[in-house]
Amino acid sequence: MALTGLRFPASALRGRRYPELPHRYRGEFQRDRDRIIHARAFRRLEDKTQVFGDRFSDHFRNRLTHTIEVAQIARTLASALGLDEDFTEALALAHDIGHPPFAHAGEEELNRQMRAFGDTFDHNLHALHIVESFEQRYARFPGLNLTFEVREGMVKHSRDFEPGERAEFDEYLPGLRPPLEAQLIDLADEVAYNTADLDDGHSAGLFTMEEIAAAVPHYGELAEEIVWQFPAAPEKVQFQEVLRRLIDLLASSLIEGTIESVQSSGVQSLDDVRRSPRLVRMSGEASPTNRALKKFLFEHVYSTPPLMEERRKACEGIAELFQYFLRHPAELPDGHRERIEELPLHRVVCDYIAGMTDGFFRRTATRLL
Ligand code: MG
Repeated sequence: MALTGLRFPASALRGRRYPELPHRYRGEFQRDRDRIIHARAFRRLEDKTQVFGDRFSDHFRNRLTHTIEVAQIARTLASALGLDEDFTEALALAHDIGHPPFAHAGEEELNRQMRAFGDTFDHNLHALHIVESFEQRYARFPGLNLTFEVREGMVKHSRDFEPGERAEFDEYLPGLRPPLEAQLIDLADEVAYNTADLDDGHSAGLFTMEEIAAAVPHYGELAEEIVWQFPAAPEKVQFQEVLRRLIDLLASSLIEGTIESVQSSGVQSLDDVRRSPRLVRMSGEASPTNRALKKFLFEHVYSTPPLMEERRKACEGIAELFQYFLRHPAELPDGHRERIEELPLHRVVCDYIAGMTDGFFRRTATRLL
């Protein structure tokens, strides 16, 4: 059973901030998708770290290839569930557009720097600013003029909020959940990065298949079957065979779990979806696998010495450059320097650094420090 009845209805579109005529043959979400792909912030994902910096290997994910993997998984889920694939795809492509350089280390350090001013850095909010104003491609309006629904999905990527919790989010239906197409993204992201980080961590030699099997439910059974079926295959090929089945297991469990939760909640319409707790979830069978996978990656990848060392360096570098621009605002490029007239300097510095790729950050730090 698909959830076709809960597919986001075109009649419910709230549309764009600046009205535009419909396109001859592209739907509104297809146009949003195309605007995101053509944005500079999207292209910069190519040189932003996902987990492993580029000094580890040329084969590992960066934030752009991760984004493409999320989009592909999310589209499959949306299509299997009878939801609007174009809506889901636009959101998947935008989901990391606000990420600063150097992955989570970058985000943490920018947030730490901002807290000294009683402020914060939040990559979902930064993403909203990118699509609302930083991208300059249209003569008639700032930003990309995306539909309300895509902007709402972006700010509600991984969490919901109540009225008044954050003034800037108040127009995005606080207290209500986003449509199912948007709820899919957070979990599609999880399936993509848990399996991708396992892949990259295994290639980096951080652990063996036996260690995964000992810690992650279902992995051992999948691996046994593969080894029995392809005993002569090299270990790295056996690993890939298991990995594919693991992605399939998690994605299928998301489809089944979501159908189950929709059925047991009795929701019938978009309005019901908005008022119910989030409905997209994995089935009971695969949730422990997903949880164990997360824990395994934390212990065997994210908190290992080479990655901790990368994080430490990234945090140190960002702190230094942030402090440098606070002391030397004249070194900011023109467009950013002009913003100091309307905004506090720390906000301008934060936005500038958040937009940088890893490579541009390194070149700027080398030039100035
Ligand atoms: Mg992501």
